[in-house]
Amino acid sequence: MPAQPDTSSRHLRPVAWGAALLAGFIAQLLLILFVTMIGLSQLDVTTDNLKTVVDVHMRKQNLTKTMVTSARERTLIMLMLTKIDDPFERDELLIRFNEQGAEYAVARLALQDMRLNKQEQKLILKQQQLIKIAQPIQEQVIDLISANHNPEAEDVLIKYSIPAQNQVLAVLYQLDTETQEVARAASHKAYEAQTVARFWMYLLCGAALLVGVIVAAVVLRYTTRISHEREHLAIHDALTGLPNRRLFMDRLEQALVHANRHKTLIGVLFIDLDNFKRVNDTLGHAVGDQLICQVAKRLRAALREEDIVARLGGDEFVVVIGDVDGVTQILHVVDKMLAVMGAPYQISERELFNSCSIGISIYPTDGVNSSDLLKNADTAMYHAKSSGKNRYHLYDAAMNAMAEDRLQLDTDLHYALERNEFVFYYQPQVNLNTGRTDAVEALIRWNHPHKGLLAPAAFLDLLEDTGEIINVGRKLLMTACNQTARWHAAGFSDLSIAVNVSGKEFWHDDLIQNVRHALKQSGLPPQSLQLELTEGILMGDIDSAVRKILELKALGITIAIDDFGTGYSSLAHLKRFPLDILKIDRYFVMDIQSDPINEALVNSILALCKGLNLGTVAEGVESQSQLESLHKLGCPVVQGYLISRPAPAENIITLLNCHWLQELGISGDVPARVSAPPSSSSGP
Ligand code: C2E
Ligand code: CA
Ligand code: CA
Repeated sequence: MPAQPDTSSRHLRPVAWGAALLAGFIAQLLLILFVTMIGLSQLDVTTDNLKTVVDVHMRKQNLTKTMVTSARERTLIMLMLTKIDDPFERDELLIRFNEQGAEYAVARLALQDMRLNKQEQKLILKQQQLIKIAQPIQEQVIDLISANHNPEAEDVLIKYSIPAQNQVLAVLYQLDTETQEVARAASHKAYEAQTVARFWMYLLCGAALLVGVIVAAVVLRYTTRISHEREHLAIHDALTGLPNRRLFMDRLEQALVHANRHKTLIGVLFIDLDNFKRVNDTLGHAVGDQLICQVAKRLRAALREEDIVARLGGDEFVVVIGDVDGVTQILHVVDKMLAVMGAPYQISERELFNSCSIGISIYPTDGVNSSDLLKNADTAMYHAKSSGKNRYHLYDAAMNAMAEDRLQLDTDLHYALERNEFVFYYQPQVNLNTGRTDAVEALIRWNHPHKGLLAPAAFLDLLEDTGEIINVGRKLLMTACNQTARWHAAGFSDLSIAVNVSGKEFWHDDLIQNVRHALKQSGLPPQSLQLELTEGILMGDIDSAVRKILELKALGITIAIDDFGTGYSSLAHLKRFPLDILKIDRYFVMDIQSDPINEALVNSILALCKGLNLGTVAEGVESQSQLESLHKLGCPVVQGYLISRPAPAENIITLLNCHWLQELGISGDVPARVSAPPSSSSGP
């Protein structure tokens, strides 16, 4: 069986997953932000540098080139002037000469206004100094030309002016080279900035991509896992991990196809725990859940791998045993299952016993489709339950009618209370010291309009399940108190009435109020009322149970523990409860005369009661030999068919008048093995 799901880790997991995903998303967003920031800043650098290249340096170069051209032009014009005699032509050339000079000056001024580096500034300064040398020489040449001394002018031009001009030009070339150099450096810087940007962008984009892939993978894994878990939950029982009804039906269909093809039998087993409700009601749901898990584990372990085990809900399990050739093979498995399920369960340091009832339907005799087989196994299970639990029952067609009966009973139950169909029968409890009837136990019967008188086994479960037991119990308590008050009035004023209280009734908030009300209305003295509680009721929340019993006892009534020895109570627990009477279960009385172990057990229970100052009643005394054994052991009070079956109120007076020592043929002296119990058992 799969392990029980670890709910704590399941709660934590989504939080951890969520945090991891959020961190992933944030990391990715930050990376994308960095990429964008770096991209933008590097773009700025690149733009800046390109602007420098395009705007500034191109312009600088242009200006330098203009200066070079003007300087060259001026030298050329001067050379031409030395060769020309025509005064008009000369004037024209002189105008051009001056124009070139102006162009040069404008270009230089523009250049000076621009952002220049140190080297450029140095070169411009040098150029200005050289111009200062070249300019007077040029003026001298022009003056000579103007005075028509052309040969002298040519001489000065070639010897002084052109070399001076060449020096200026050389500086301008240097300036041009420098400008080019700066431009190249700027474009190189732009390129480098781009390379850096590209590197970072590749790196960060790669990282963002990686984080994105990881986040996507995590999301994908998480969602697949969730959807797998959902799928699993949809077809499995969350508590035990076993398949649920849906998956079970599916597998059963497959098994049917297989069985049909291979002409084999299939056994469908419907399993219901016998006392689960009691465990749940008295020990709490946590213990109930643990019990269910252990049952699931045992079932799974008891079967073959290929057999199907599923939980339908509550304490209902189903098993499919496939591929079998005969019913005996199935029954063999069922026997094994009853044995393993009946072994004690260890839950929270407590030992629990819980048998189960199993209904079996066989394919193909009891049905050929899954729903019929399941329904019929369920019907057979009810049969096993009503025949005394802890057993199996094979389905037969007649059971359907019974199942319908039960359904009908369920419907009838709704009207039974208002039609006063529930009545009490009474059974005497006889004191073996006095031979008188100390008390009568009130036992519910249903006077069914069609079925006649029904015993509690036929309907008590239904009453409990529907919660009707509260209303029925309240009404019958009133009836019992009124009836006993009447017996008191008829002269049997020592008579007590014992009323059974179920777990639901015991834990109901109105119990105290109901008891108080019944006593008040009937006028019955409180000490004449006993409430019988089973051990199971008390064992859940022991402290609350003790508190409740003390509240009840404060009203003056007596508390008996019923069916002692069949439930969970250890002797150690017993002393914690403020009880008055202990009723030894029929099971121990049954073969007391022949089974020394039971005899020894009854003897020790009697000793225990003496030690704890409890009254004792032995239940289910059917035979003379049982009575004699009990008498010999010193049991003070007995109840059972030997004395009387439960009888309607009108028959009780006769029984109350009976002197039982004579009737039963025993002497009134209780033997010395266990001395007589305290007063509570011999009537308040
Ligand atoms: P219980 O309290 O243990 O009652 C004793 C049962 O044993 C009764 O069955 C009684 O008829 C039967 N009995 C008495 N003497 C003998 C005997 O010598 N041999 C055998 N074989 N049986 C004997 P009954 O009346 O069918 O009641 C069954 C159970 O139903 C009771 O067991 C009690 O737990 C429950 N019950 C009965 N009446 C009420 C009720 O008014 N309220 C609640 N909550 N439970 C009730
Ligand atoms: Ca009882
Ligand atoms: Ca009993």
